[in-house]
Amino acid sequence: MSIILLGPPGAGKGTQAKILEKKRGYVQLSTGDMLRNAVSEGSDLGNKAKEIMNKGEFVPDEIMVGIISEKIKSLGKANFILDGFPRTEGQAVALEKLLKIRSRSLFAVIELKVDDDLLIERVTGRFTCSECGAVYNDSFKVPKNLGVCDFCGNTHFSRRSDDSREVMENRLGVYHKHTAPLLEFYENRGLLRSVDGMSSSEEVEIQISGILDDKIAAKG
Ligand code: AMP
Repeated sequence: MSIILLGPPGAGKGTQAKILEKKRGYVQLSTGDMLRNAVSEGSDLGNKAKEIMNKGEFVPDEIMVGIISEKIKSLGKANFILDGFPRTEGQAVALEKLLKIRSRSLFAVIELKVDDDLLIERVTGRFTCSECGAVYNDSFKVPKNLGVCDFCGNTHFSRRSDDSREVMENRLGVYHKHTAPLLEFYENRGLLRSVDGMSSSEEVEIQISGILDDKIAAKG
């Protein structure tokens, strides 16, 4: 099963992908995480990507398609959720081709709809536990014991360098120009379903699960 979570930065794609990974065993493929790992390793790819990411621009399609193609190949028949890919029509077309070669197809594309103002508030207040990756927010979700992760007890947190207001505004502009057209691309293929990403993550999870369960039942 191949699922895409589609939506602007801060819509909750990563949070929902992690929930699906935990509850259903699907593998989360986050291209943003892959690039951040490459940056912290200081690899050639990381050095190229760092500057682009810090400006809120997109890493070129051929690089992203190469990365995702290798990952999908290594997964065999495992179910996966794409989080942050595709982001351009070129990437979407390449994805169709590489799934076809592997005799696979997309099962669902789920859009997380969130207004821009809320996205800016979410992203600029976002911080994560450096140990387990749990996501918090200055305005919406601070740890129960300030400074201590609710899940693993770690006391170190980090913020993404591209989560500043200025970079976020650029990321949103780039999203509306290059990624939002994919909604129509997948609507035309009968694959698109949308959920209200403004609700709590528990409610978003229920909506996504409902869509997936309906589609699984319809497939028999
Ligand atoms: P994310 O963690 O998904 O918000 O991604 C962080 C940054 O990584 C983005 O702002 C882009 O600079 C880069 N990136 C991640 N995925 C892609 C992609 N599919 N295409 C181009 N750039 C990407």
